[in-house]
Amino acid sequence: MTPPGRAALRPDDRPPRPAAADRLGLYVHVPFCVGKCAYCGFSSIPAAADPIARYLDRLSTEAHDRITPALAARIQTVFIGGGNPTALGVAALGRLLHTLSDILSSSPIEEWTIESNPETFSRDLLPLLRPLPGLRLSLGLQRLRDEEIAWLGRAATARQGRQALEIALAATPNVGVDLILGVPELPPLVPELRSLVESLPVRHVSAYFLTLEEDTPYAAAVASGTRRDPAETGPEELFGVTAALQAAGFEHYEISNFARPGSRCRHNLAYWHQHDYLGLGPAAVGTLAGERRTNAASLADWLADAPPTIERLDEATRQREFLMLRLRLLQEGLDLREWEFRFGPPPPPLSEALGREVAAGLLGRVGPRYRLTPAGLPFANQVIARLF
Ligand code: SF4
Repeated sequence: MTPPGRAALRPDDRPPRPAAADRLGLYVHVPFCVGKCAYCGFSSIPAAADPIARYLDRLSTEAHDRITPALAARIQTVFIGGGNPTALGVAALGRLLHTLSDILSSSPIEEWTIESNPETFSRDLLPLLRPLPGLRLSLGLQRLRDEEIAWLGRAATARQGRQALEIALAATPNVGVDLILGVPELPPLVPELRSLVESLPVRHVSAYFLTLEEDTPYAAAVASGTRRDPAETGPEELFGVTAALQAAGFEHYEISNFARPGSRCRHNLAYWHQHDYLGLGPAAVGTLAGERRTNAASLADWLADAPPTIERLDEATRQREFLMLRLRLLQEGLDLREWEFRFGPPPPPLSEALGREVAAGLLGRVGPRYRLTPAGLPFANQVIARLF
């Protein structure tokens, strides 16, 4: 029975489901944060009213220009990342969501992901977020103890992180956290992570190693010897995180990503499967019909309509990305039947290189499918580089 006040939805009223090859994602970059972390190489600046207003105006223009009705009809996932999207504040984030929802009103959206940092995540956001279909919230906790968060120079406390998670879980069951691993001076975060996933029904964990970004205070501190280079750290913390999350029922589905069954990030999966996606905002990247478009990285240049960089992806680039992205997917791996479907028979040097990695124990093979082994995981980049 149709609930009162709602029209019955006939099957042919539903937005048509695009075929897999036609699916399209939308990434929107929000370049604002409450401050600037010492290690940050992302396109972000401290939030302030005037640049936010100009950002929203320009984003609205870009969204209307780029998302034609034909493309809107293909968009299945939206990912609003940053920076810290909730640093916009409730009113400005509301305006951004309203603009996008309007343009995407007939899109077959399965998933809206919003990233946020705990210091700007509050109950005031819930009326904006709850109506979004397939809502996923991804909270940037990064570390789980106050002294470690402070050591990284981040704004929120561990308590604020916990409160943000509880509020997020009131908006949607589909909540994830982002973590930073491999900080040489910090102890493994495994004990706190274990107690977090045992006490709250978090469904997704992304855990990336800290990398040194050029021209950051962190890089300067490493150069002057006051901090250690994160490249010195081994994979042990990732092994500990993997064991703790697998024991709690998570699947390790991508090198840096874990999900409870049925809770993988659809937007990122589409990216790893090389489906097309549009990118809006400064520094945003998109790929459509073999053309990669990278927006001007600085907010000022993007606001001034600096043209994007356009690159036509040649076959060799698409093949390289196929190898790299598929081997990151630990359960699916690289399937040579799919290679053949896309590019023709695999060249003998590729088959030979895959064979050498299998012989070295870094890849496992079942029929035409190759996957990183646990021994190969810490050497994923080297394995992938040797296949080109
Ligand atoms: S919160 Fe993230 S994007 Fe913002 S400054 Fe820190 S590391 Fe950079």
